[in-house]
Amino acid sequence: MSNFHLDIVTPDKPFFSDEVEMVVVRGIEGDMAILKGRAPVTTPLKIGKVRIFQNGEEKVAAVVDGYISVVDDKTTIVTEAAEWPQEIDVKRAEEAKERAEELLKNRRDSIDVKRAELALQRAINRLEVSKLK
Ligand code: ATP
Repeated sequence: MSNFHLDIVTPDKPFFSDEVEMVVVRGIEGDMAILKGRAPVTTPLKIGKVRIFQNGEEKVAAVVDGYISVVDDKTTIVTEAAEWPQEIDVKRAEEAKERAEELLKNRRDSIDVKRAELALQRAINRLEVSKLK
């Protein structure tokens, strides 16, 4: 399978930069698999997993929302936060999940509810990815 370049960038650091065979992301309209030669696209991402296929192996990272851009043979993912399974602090994610669930139980205005729902999605996603190490 032909390779193309993938960069994953967060405000803290360049998270990943290498040649890959395929990357699968969760776009706002569903999962997208990017292969070499794909038509250019820029689209928002949802909180979820980035699956990277390289040398016949699969690596998975947790990302919060952001966007993916495919231009020529360069794919860039820009996201506020990204973690590999072994980087995830499980206790922190469990606490974030409990806080979000508590807020949703005592729902006040709609802004709080939306915030809590997103925090809950981030925490659940991190807990799922942490099991993949
Ligand atoms: P918390 O309420 O625990 O801060 P959060 O979902 O609000 O969680 P984010 O705003 O998504 O956190 O991320 C802020 C920073 O903290 C990012 O750099 C992210 O990689 C890191 N981070 C958040 N949760 C975890 C975790 N459970 N393990 C490791 N790093 C985390």
